[in-house]
Amino acid sequence: MIFDTHAHYDDEQFDADREALLSQMKENGIERIADIGASMASSKEALLLSEKYDFIYAVVGVHPSEVEELNDDKLEELRIMSRKPKCVAIGEIGLDYHWPEPSRELQQHWFSRQLSLAREEHKPVVIHSREAAEDTLRIMKEQKAEEIGGVVHCFSYSKEIARICADMGFYIGVGGVITFKNGKKLKETVADLPLDKILLETDCPYLAPEPYRGKRNSSLFLPYVVEAIADIKGISKEEVMDVTYNNALRFYGL
Ligand SMILES: [Zn+2]
Repeated sequence: MIFDTHAHYDDEQFDADREALLSQMKENGIERIADIGASMASSKEALLLSEKYDFIYAVVGVHPSEVEELNDDKLEELRIMSRKPKCVAIGEIGLDYHWPEPSRELQQHWFSRQLSLAREEHKPVVIHSREAAEDTLRIMKEQKAEEIGGVVHCFSYSKEIARICADMGFYIGVGGVITFKNGKKLKETVADLPLDKILLETDCPYLAPEPYRGKRNSSLFLPYVVEAIADIKGISKEEVMDVTYNNALRFYGL
C-alpha cells in the first residue's frame, strides 16, 4: 500500500480525466492521497476533493509564490477551512527564492504567520523551500517548528540539512527526482536518512519519475520512486511501502 502525501489533483491538468484517474488508484495499491492547496482557491478545491473521495485528505495553505493574495481576513478563512474534519495539515507554505517576486520579506511574513496558525490549530505543516535553506531553518527555529511538526516536501538540499530537519522531528518528502540521473544529492540524502523519516510524494502533475520524466505525473507512478529508494537502501520494495505508509499515517495523525 502506498500513501501519496503530496498531490495536486485540483490542478487543471487533471480536468479532462480526474474521475477516471482517481477511480484507478485503489486497485493499483495507492491507498490514500493528500491533496495539497497552494492558494486560497486550490485549498478550497482540495477540501472538495476530500469530501468527494474517502481516500483523499486535504491540506490547506498558501504557497510562497501566491502570498500576495493573503491578508488578515484570508488567514482567518484558512483557519476555518483547516477545521474541516478531513483537513490534516497546513500547507504548502514556505519560501521560494527562485523567482524575484513576491519579495523575500513578504514570503517570510506569511510563512511565519501560517506556521503560527498551524500551531494554534494543532496541525502539522507541509513546507515548500527552494533556494532558501538558511532563512527556512531560521524561521522554523524562531517559530519552534519542532513543536509543530511537518515535512519538508520535494527536498532539494544537502543531507546535512536533512539531518537538521529530521532532528527537529520533520519528515523529508521524496518523489520523482530520486529517479533522475542528476538526482545525486537526493540519493545521498535518502542513503543517509533513516527510512522512518521519509514520506513518499508525487507533487503531481509535476516531477514525473523516470521513465516518464517530463510527462504529466500521477500517484500511479510512485512504484518507480519506491523501487529507487529500495535500491539505494538495499531493502525490499515492500519494506519501503510499509514503513513510509505508516510514516504518513503518523504524520497526518490518521
Ligand atoms: Zn506541491
